[in-house]
Amino acid sequence: MSGEQYVFGPVPSRRLGLSLGLSPLPQKTCNYACVYCQLGRTSRMINERQEFVPLSIMVTEFRNFLKSGVPFDVVTIVGEGEPTLALNLGQLLSAVQELTDKPVAVITNGSWLAAEEVRAALQKADLVLPSLDAYDEESFRQINRPWGKLKFKEVYEGLRCFSQEYQGQLWLETMLVQGLNDDEEALKKLKGLLQGLKYQRLYLNTPVRPPAESWVTPPAPAVVQKAVQLLGGMSIDSLAEGSFYSEIKDDYAAVLSIIGRHPLNQHELSSFLASRQCPNPEVVLSKLKQEQKVEIVFYKGYHTYRLV
Ligand code: SF4
Repeated sequence: MSGEQYVFGPVPSRRLGLSLGLSPLPQKTCNYACVYCQLGRTSRMINERQEFVPLSIMVTEFRNFLKSGVPFDVVTIVGEGEPTLALNLGQLLSAVQELTDKPVAVITNGSWLAAEEVRAALQKADLVLPSLDAYDEESFRQINRPWGKLKFKEVYEGLRCFSQEYQGQLWLETMLVQGLNDDEEALKKLKGLLQGLKYQRLYLNTPVRPPAESWVTPPAPAVVQKAVQLLGGMSIDSLAEGSFYSEIKDDYAAVLSIIGRHPLNQHELSSFLASRQCPNPEVVLSKLKQEQKVEIVFYKGYHTYRLV
């Protein structure tokens, strides 16, 4: 629907199915600046929890979306950034659950799990998907480039604590980056850390979309396979992705709305426009090329469109 700002999608998610996104914070607001971040570099680096968006605005948008009757599988609280920075996350989870029977998931970098109030808020979610990419302080600084005072030990301890307390589904994600956390020693250390956690699934991911830093490369498939065996997880790359959807009538505005939250490569863009029976896909493409706020990145043999 036009004018929507905090509800987006549904977008296909390889882990969750058709995911309706709900973002409680402005774009690129995060306490990490991961080298692999598909949103580009973090422009708003903060670690202070605050109310970014009034609850009533998010709930009204969500209610309006529900009226449209568009199907989705799950509501995912995710931002262009770290959703646990939003002080009203717990209230948002309760409000969403009152309005839908669909499961509600939260995607988080896990940095705030050391705080009891954040763990308590996340208890309300049906699924929590935290990241664990680093295996010590040095790799934490190299991969996630956290806000100054965050310490790896404390972040891990928060994750460990939450994993023991949490009653819902805990699905971990590890992003493997060549040369940073994919050698045998790194994988063994990650395995040791995973043994201290209680979780239902572990997904191993690789940077498939253009990363914040152009030198970031995914490990070779054989290395990912080795990690899958050693860590006992499953590779996200092996899961199929569905198709994108937007309620926005105007094709160009619909594309802008999606790439504001989820970069699209040229193939995804074409099939998205075709699925809407867009009469002039080439016009949309040429407008995108001229749009100042759109960045077109050539990565892995094709162009990807994202908002700067
Ligand atoms: S990948 Fe996630 S945690 Fe890392 S910088 Fe991007 S938004 Fe923040």
